[in-house]
Amino acid sequence: MPVPLLDLKIQYRALKPEIDAALIRVAESQACILGPEVDALERELEAYLGVKHAIGVSSGTDALLMALMALGVGPGDEVIVPTFSFFATAGCVSRLNATPVFVDVDNVTFNLDPELTRKAITAKTKAIIPVHLFGQAADTDAFMAISREFNIPIIEDAAQAIGTQTADGRRVGSIGHIGCFSFYPTKNLGAFGDGGLVTTNDDELAVRLKQIRNHGMEPRYYHKIMGGNFRLDAMQGAVLRVKLPHLPSWHAGRRRNAELYTKLFIEAGLSSAPGVTSFGPGDSILLPKAVCEGSAPDHHIFNQFTIRSSHRNALRTYLAERGIGSEIYYPVPFHRQECFASLNCDDNAFPISNCLAATVLSLPIYPELEEHHIREVVGAIAEFEHEHAHRESECPDCAECGTTA
Ligand SMILES: *Cc1c(COP(=O)(O)O)cnc(C)c1O
Repeated sequence: MPVPLLDLKIQYRALKPEIDAALIRVAESQACILGPEVDALERELEAYLGVKHAIGVSSGTDALLMALMALGVGPGDEVIVPTFSFFATAGCVSRLNATPVFVDVDNVTFNLDPELTRKAITAKTKAIIPVHLFGQAADTDAFMAISREFNIPIIEDAAQAIGTQTADGRRVGSIGHIGCFSFYPTKNLGAFGDGGLVTTNDDELAVRLKQIRNHGMEPRYYHKIMGGNFRLDAMQGAVLRVKLPHLPSWHAGRRRNAELYTKLFIEAGLSSAPGVTSFGPGDSILLPKAVCEGSAPDHHIFNQFTIRSSHRNALRTYLAERGIGSEIYYPVPFHRQECFASLNCDDNAFPISNCLAATVLSLPIYPELEEHHIREVVGAIAEFEHEHAHRESECPDCAECGTTA
């Protein structure tokens, strides 16, 4: 029985009457850009995220670009980013002719490493962008301490983590100087197209971000600062307002699925515990660990459930042949990307990201997944591991995951 990586039609079917009504409401109003739907969404998101200002924008990528523009990042500046993330995290820095400085990630959370970040700071460092990768919070306490010590602003890339809570219950994107979110359809809160959000508790930054969203214009046709068209449209606002109240139950569904995967993989003898970082006799696959477990309910929202396998490509092919969807987030870290070749990065400086790129595999985790689907996925992986137990590792040059030849 096929198990797709994601099936958005199930979610739409469940909310169809409300979503269709909201779309028709916008069609009849012909208030198509920003307007009352986006205003209402912004107030609802401020309440949900516990942040003073939420500003609807055109995409998660544009949210990051706007955050950097609002902080005045430009030529000669450096911005520290994890080398293991979605491209936009680093691409936006280069688009402003600043230099992205790549730093390796933590072996358990896959999030930017605070100690390595500290070592990468120079007099040119203008911002730090920790990413809450796969829906798990980065170490915000450590990054805010670094921010205070060096007087460098923090931009949280919370594109995959809307609603994620830190151990003390705060929602990510409300902690740093600016938070950036994406409403890309595959994110936990997805629109019917592109959309994003910037958040801040700083009144002055909020004013600047709203100006940047609309060509730096204030008042009409007077342009104080450089901006662009980064506006969210009303159709997206209306759809997102219908979906937002369901977000906590979707998070709970994803967490329940993650717990079942974890239990079944351990029962099948494929893993000894979540968060193990090297392959050995008791760990033929590695499971993600939710580090704030037991604290806030939304401690990890599992935008992705990402396991690791030392023969990941063969496993992915095996699953695909059985109709089971999976994806590699991400196969190439930034320091190995062709477009960043001129930065002349030392490949040996990023051992964990290099290992992750060779071993990670994200499995279906969407909230509507049923128990039999999860059993099917675990069963297929167990079969594969049984058949391929003595297969040569695809990560032969790596001391990190214990597969050194
Ligand atoms: C999705 C994503 C973005 C970009 O968001 P878009 O809305 O697709 O532009 C940025 N950073 C991360 C970590 C993402 O996952």
